[in-house]
Amino acid sequence: MEPLRTAAVVIEVRDYGEADKIVTFYSLARGRMSGIAKGAKRSLKRFVNKLELFTLLEIHFTDSRTSSLVRLDQAELLEHFPLLRSDYARYTAGILLCELVLQWTKENDPDPALFDLLKWGLGNLQAGERPPLWGAILFELKLLTLLGYQPDLSGCSLCGRLAASQAPYRFRPAVHGLVCGACARQGYREEPGTWLMISLSTISLLRKAQELEPTKLSRLCFSPQAAREGAALLRAHGNHILQREIFAWEQLLKQS
Ligand SMILES: [Zn+2]
Repeated sequence: MEPLRTAAVVIEVRDYGEADKIVTFYSLARGRMSGIAKGAKRSLKRFVNKLELFTLLEIHFTDSRTSSLVRLDQAELLEHFPLLRSDYARYTAGILLCELVLQWTKENDPDPALFDLLKWGLGNLQAGERPPLWGAILFELKLLTLLGYQPDLSGCSLCGRLAASQAPYRFRPAVHGLVCGACARQGYREEPGTWLMISLSTISLLRKAQELEPTKLSRLCFSPQAAREGAALLRAHGNHILQREIFAWEQLLKQS
């Protein structure tokens, strides 16, 4: 088999046996892919400081005839994102980005825009200018928009309106969108725990973030309430669609 190469971000690393590692990447050429690095725990030269979470690498690999795991031959370090290793809240936000990419993508389904978004998301956490919780919220919003699973924040899912006179608004994961106070008062039945309150100012901030290019997202400012509501909305929306918990959200919220 011919040796191949691609840029790739490490999103999961596991020890395998005495000396090997199994590494999962989100790569430019293949999307999510996993490879085995033989002797990675012993080989200082080839892989030291490279097969670590968040690193952006140029990997050289060979396909296997018998398995979906490629064989990692060599890796060159392109970016290391050191702040994500020294600041625990930023590390946790980085873990969240990796967990989201692991859960929302399939193997061998490349998406160059998603690869760029992941690089942007890690770089944004590394820049250290804004709270890591904001970075996590913005990353998930843009990820969901790219994948076509964005929450619908354009108006009430029943009457279509988005106005102060219709407040307070709720977000209902089951409809992937909003229900206004007026519709809720008119006998719309809700089970407890199936919705969460969200203020109009948070809705408009999240809508702006959905529309802006990633490079322009640093203009947005989250109040503590907007960050709390935005994180709760994305967590509930993602959990509902994936039918599983993204564990790093809880850790990140504890530290924010
Ligand atoms: Zn309504």
